[in-house]
Amino acid sequence: MTFSIHGLAVARGIAIGRAVLVASSRLDVAHYFIEPTQVTAEISRVRDGRDAVVREIHRLQASIAQMGPKEAPNELTALLDVHLLLLQDEELALGVKRWIKDRLYNAEWALTSQLEVVARQFDEMEDDYLRERKADLEQITEKVLRAMRGVSSPVIQPPNRNTRKSSQQDLLLDDTVDVPLILVAHDLSPADMLQFKQSVFAGFITDVGGKTSHTAIVARSLDIPAVVGARWSSQLMRQDDWVIIDGDAGVVVVDPSPIILAEYGFKQRQVELERGRLARLLHTPAVTMDGQKIELLANIEMPDDAVSAIKSGAVGVGLFRSEFLFMGRHGKLPNEEEQYKAYRRAVEGMQGLPVTIRTVDVGADKPLDESQRNDAHLNPALGLRAIRWSLADPAMFLTQLRAILRAAAHGQVHLLIPMLAHAREIRQTMALIDHARVQLDNRGVAYGAVKVGAMIEIPAAALTLKVFLKYFDFLSIGTNDLIQYTLAIDRADESVAHLYDPMHPAVLRLVANTIAEGRAQGKPVSVCGEMAGDVSLTKLLLGMGLRSFSMHPAQILAVKQEVLRSDTVKLTPWAETVMADDEPGKRMSKAT
Ligand code: PEP
Ligand code: MG
Repeated sequence: MTFSIHGLAVARGIAIGRAVLVASSRLDVAHYFIEPTQVTAEISRVRDGRDAVVREIHRLQASIAQMGPKEAPNELTALLDVHLLLLQDEELALGVKRWIKDRLYNAEWALTSQLEVVARQFDEMEDDYLRERKADLEQITEKVLRAMRGVSSPVIQPPNRNTRKSSQQDLLLDDTVDVPLILVAHDLSPADMLQFKQSVFAGFITDVGGKTSHTAIVARSLDIPAVVGARWSSQLMRQDDWVIIDGDAGVVVVDPSPIILAEYGFKQRQVELERGRLARLLHTPAVTMDGQKIELLANIEMPDDAVSAIKSGAVGVGLFRSEFLFMGRHGKLPNEEEQYKAYRRAVEGMQGLPVTIRTVDVGADKPLDESQRNDAHLNPALGLRAIRWSLADPAMFLTQLRAILRAAAHGQVHLLIPMLAHAREIRQTMALIDHARVQLDNRGVAYGAVKVGAMIEIPAAALTLKVFLKYFDFLSIGTNDLIQYTLAIDRADESVAHLYDPMHPAVLRLVANTIAEGRAQGKPVSVCGEMAGDVSLTKLLLGMGLRSFSMHPAQILAVKQEVLRSDTVKLTPWAETVMADDEPGKRMSKAT
């Protein structure tokens, strides 16, 4: 039966494919594709894991048999029997084999996928007793997973493709063609998303998340259609369901009818055509109709993203979110050498164009790893995040600063500091940058000159620009956080996503003032938050005087098209009237 789920549009385009549900975080496992030659080994891994658990239960049963009825209650004996029955269940075993053989899922992924299929059948049972056996099923699956951990799987790089062969008969699409896969999850951390970066998915859907959550930002950088905040998706969908993602409308259509499928197939081709048209602008300089040169820069998360930045026609990197090098490493942070190599790769990848490396910004919705994610801080977005974290651990910060300064010997590097609010923090940061230089001098290690800039992303910073302009060479407005902190809206929380409003007059005022004050002092100002890549805001930002935009590479050509159609002489007075309105958003929609 066809049904649709509404969420938040985060990455544009249409994707049509089969749902791949990744397990809940309780059974967080690695998801990757194996090679056909590894099928037998993966099936054996599951079998060995299961056999180990069966042996453990037999051992327990034997020791229970020697106990008296007081120490070994009947319930325990019955429970172990149930666990044995479930472990030896044919459907579980056959299903796991199918996922491995037909879909080439790794053993853990196959096991958790089949767990979901069987768990749903339990959910639908009338009998309370049987329904409650689902918890037992989850327990034994966890045990098998744990037993499998001892049997390591070969490390396999996920293949760089976004389709897999479907082996199942299908009425909607020809079985012989590659079928795109769509990732469906309750939630994905930014680190998970990063893992999917070299991966196979044609789109993704999550139950939770806001439009400018870091997960959504990484998804956007993958340039695949995505919807977040599509509540209950992972509950309502089943493994292998056909799904359409309409990334423009933020809608997910499950089990579409042939008519709907044809309609979206048409839309998908239109999107492709539009991309083709935009590609013609690749070498066109970004200059407005009245001759203003506009700098269009790329936001990147990993050094190798420099390739897509160059391909998109970016004239530099305006924001390298270095924290992605620090995530998912189980507390083992990258050392100076590793960081230096990574920054250097990005710098060299940009072929002489400038690279703005932002110092680590972990915390809030960017935990270092899962253990930190579960840390129950009351208000992580207001906690030890970004520069606060760096200043709290000077040794770690100095390591990063030295690595960045060393990379600057290989090309143009700008150093960007996130989340500053206090003059005291600025002075401490500057002192540590000087100290990092001294340390390198003492070691006789080469390093390069850097321009140092500050993110303006806390209202307090936007309201005290004087001190920022005194110390820094440039400013970069982080609108994602500026909106979050100005409007008191958690950017990662889909339940307040309707209040996350870049067009709020307070936000516009802070952005406009920052641009104006920076320009008045002759200091470059850019916007590197998601507002910069939103084509519906390009003209307004140009009208406010912005001349430097940094966004994920996939948006650059669309923004360039807007720039080419703009006349800043007309836009300047118009932007003033928009900002003077009580509801600038409404005025904008009337004007466009
Ligand atoms: C921002 O806050 O706008 C920004 C660019 O930084 P991040 O999204 O990484 O917090
Ligand atoms: Mg920010």
